[in-house]
Amino acid sequence: MNTLCPIALTKEPKIAYFSMEIGIQNDIPTYSGGLGVLAGDTIRTGADLKLPMVAVTLISKKGYFRQELDEWGKQIETDNSWDPAQYMTLLPTKITVQIEGRDVFIQAWQYNVESLTKGCIPIFFLDTDVEENTPEDRDITAYLYGGDIGYRLKQEIVLGIGGVRMLHELGFEIKKYHMNEGHSSLLTLELLNRFKRPIEDVWDEKLVWDVDRVKNLCVFTTHTPVEAGHDRFPYDLVAKIMGEPLPLNVLQQLGGKDLLNMTRLGLNLCEFINGVAKKHTEVSRNMFPGYEISAITNGVHSFTWTCDSFKRLYDKYLPGWANEPELFVRVGRIPDNEIWDAHIEAKKILFEYVRARTDIRLDPDILTIGFARRATAYKRADLIFSDVDRLIEIGKGKLQLVFAGKAHPRDDTGKKLIERIFSIKNQLKDSIRLAYLENYDMDIALKLVSGVDVWLNTPMRPREASGTSGMKATHNGVMNFSVLDGWWIEGHIEGYTGWSIGPSPTETLLVENIDTSDADDLYLKLEKTLIPLYYGDRRLWIRMMQNAIGKNAYYFNCHRMMRRYVTDAYIR
Ligand SMILES: *Cc1c(COP(=O)(O)O)cnc(C)c1O
Repeated sequence: MNTLCPIALTKEPKIAYFSMEIGIQNDIPTYSGGLGVLAGDTIRTGADLKLPMVAVTLISKKGYFRQELDEWGKQIETDNSWDPAQYMTLLPTKITVQIEGRDVFIQAWQYNVESLTKGCIPIFFLDTDVEENTPEDRDITAYLYGGDIGYRLKQEIVLGIGGVRMLHELGFEIKKYHMNEGHSSLLTLELLNRFKRPIEDVWDEKLVWDVDRVKNLCVFTTHTPVEAGHDRFPYDLVAKIMGEPLPLNVLQQLGGKDLLNMTRLGLNLCEFINGVAKKHTEVSRNMFPGYEISAITNGVHSFTWTCDSFKRLYDKYLPGWANEPELFVRVGRIPDNEIWDAHIEAKKILFEYVRARTDIRLDPDILTIGFARRATAYKRADLIFSDVDRLIEIGKGKLQLVFAGKAHPRDDTGKKLIERIFSIKNQLKDSIRLAYLENYDMDIALKLVSGVDVWLNTPMRPREASGTSGMKATHNGVMNFSVLDGWWIEGHIEGYTGWSIGPSPTETLLVENIDTSDADDLYLKLEKTLIPLYYGDRRLWIRMMQNAIGKNAYYFNCHRMMRRYVTDAYIR
């Protein structure tokens, strides 16, 4: 074991955090988006708070993918292989899981997340690229979200079942298993089998499985407000790949009758279940009636998501802020001109980057709106272009736009969305400058959320479980202009912390969103509120920047979130 992580070496029982993806640093491409970045923020915060935690994920040695865009915005996916040995230590311990009747060997790479507070959390990146394995099995942990449904199931076996075995083999005692989404739900099956009661001690065969004991150990966080978004596997595929982890009738009771649904499995075997925002929790309760589901709204790791110029400001006026984001409550101490200077510095850094990457020159004096997300249909990246003529009329010479985002390699609609934005870019040419940055990643995210004036979000309600990039923006005094969904329902005070788009969020079922009326509201506010305020009342604009920090960043940070997980989920 790597001895650099003293907390990991104590005998104290640990919280084990499982996630298919973790965004721990920009050049380790084992994340695809919000879920992984949240996992990274969770672990960083756990280390700040010196929590007794360990984390488990897959090594994803061939990464997600690198995105290149040709002149028409056609996405070209290129290799994103990386070398774990540069960042972490391969542990000698080997364990096995059964896949298609074979023993598949798994090793782990240890990466220590160290905090300035001297806290430390080890992450174990599981790897099947082990000599003993067949070439096919060596590839199981290669591609994040690659391959077919069988490949996914194998990955989930390695993550869930392999993860529990690895922690056990490394000598950890675990007091809670926290599943970040359903990809690791199979760990519950490993625990059920581990704690089996002797058959002669029970009066009903089903009681061999100590469901209550497993429930007591497990915490489940769901992130998906859409039924089709949950991982589901046909039972014949499960039988082919896993054999019979539990008798079929028992497994069906726990995981769903027709398909093995990883969310349902998690719900049935976890004492504590939560959604990632209040609205998302309501939606989840609706989708899975009969379960007690709590709400713990996401947050972001303040230090990671604050740009350098604002870090300096906070260090000067709110010392200690990074490990105590509640100190943002005193943001009013920072003089207006210093907030503005820090903002302009961040804006120039972004614009320099945009120029280097796209050759597009943006003007720091012009109101700049940013939008960067996974390019997928429900995020509606093109809502602002619903009526291009109207947008030009409103924004000509007064507006600039910066976009970024990758589409999943199999999401053709998402890819078309990027191409559409490229074609609009040419249409807008001289009236509104628009840049689309390639290969959205954590570094670009920080430049974007700090370097624009307004952060736009236009998802279809209620499909945005939480959203976190808007929270990052608030840490840099950037206001949100967003559809009322996810976290923004909780953070929005109209004209005070930012602005809403479209109606108030009453629905808890998936409904058709009316694009035209949402777009109409967007244009109206842009024309009548945002543009006049930006150019006409800088003092009020800066007041709103302060409110974004003092109200939004004050609350939507990962320190608040982790304290909730500790009190509500980990120590019950
Ligand atoms: C924060 C972040 C996300 C998540 O943003 P959402 O607003 O939740 O969509 C996705 N990708 C990267 C690179 C990020 O930094």
